[in-house]
Amino acid sequence: MSTVKCIGILTSGGDAPGMNAAIRAVTRAAIYNGLQVKGIYRGYKGLITGEIQEFKSQNVSNIIQLGGTILKTARCQEFMTPEGRKIAYDTLIKEGIDALVVIGGDGSLTGARIFAQEYDIPCIGLPGTIDNDLFGTDTTIGYDTALNTILDAVDKIRDTATSHERLFFIEVMGRDAGFLALNGAIASGAEAAIIPEFSTEVDQLEELIKNGFRKSKNSSIVIVAESELTGGAMHYADRVKNEYPQYDVRVTILGHVQRGGSPTAHDRILASRLGAASIDAILEGQRNVMIGIENDEIVYVPFTKAIKNNKPIKKELVNVLRILSI
Ligand code: ADP
Repeated sequence: MSTVKCIGILTSGGDAPGMNAAIRAVTRAAIYNGLQVKGIYRGYKGLITGEIQEFKSQNVSNIIQLGGTILKTARCQEFMTPEGRKIAYDTLIKEGIDALVVIGGDGSLTGARIFAQEYDIPCIGLPGTIDNDLFGTDTTIGYDTALNTILDAVDKIRDTATSHERLFFIEVMGRDAGFLALNGAIASGAEAAIIPEFSTEVDQLEELIKNGFRKSKNSSIVIVAESELTGGAMHYADRVKNEYPQYDVRVTILGHVQRGGSPTAHDRILASRLGAASIDAILEGQRNVMIGIENDEIVYVPFTKAIKNNKPIKKELVNVLRILSI
């Protein structure tokens, strides 16, 4: 059983809708179980600067519906150094924090893994990223909201694309993961998705053209994942302009709009479940695991498995998109 009395919470790296719902859940579940809670501001930076505040239940009132994160987020170079992490550890000791809940993506959980290796402090991760690129969890906090934001935008672009009979390349986020692009394409009825996972296998533009993607249509939408591996939407638009000048091509880069907005019901429920489970995990004496959800069950995923363990794209989804876009 755990001897933890006070937990610290932070949000780090790229923000994602639903982070506030997670902060609320962690805080309230901790208080419910008799633990003290401290909110750490600006990710790992707050551990270095000491920007920390005790959280009571009221501190997380009225935030479940808000996008962004009330704890703010930041990228912190100093935490990447052993000296920076030593300062962070000293801050935790000074504040009496004896377990840490980190809400963030791949990078943030990597930081937590390294920190937990160096210092004897239980760290629990919650997958907070719109990219859905953490292994061992079916979905991540923020992914569903971002997907719905993409749909809203693509539906609108479809109207103008059809009126002008244009080919649109729409760039979505995802870093090196094609989940947003592929599922965004299926859900919006796009003609194709260009994703990093297949960038080395085939020339995805040649595939599109070969498949006659514009034979019977008066508009076409191709969703492109923003990634160095794909080259992004501009790269494909330039190629089409040069290689297939008969097409009237436009590009829309959705950008940071995908990170904002009120979280969907799915993300709020996910964040609430994962947040509550993070406290169960601490009380059970778990350490250095990410809380995930698989087949609707809470799972504990060791950091080493969750991070940098390429989460596979289902071939079935690729086939569904290809078949339904004829
Ligand atoms: P995300 O969590 O969204 O993937 P980043 O990759 O930017 O975001 O990482 C967020 C923060 O996590 C970094 O600014 C840094 O403070 C910390 N971090 C990332 N990688 C490491 C690492 N290898 N060692 C220590 N800290 C790290």
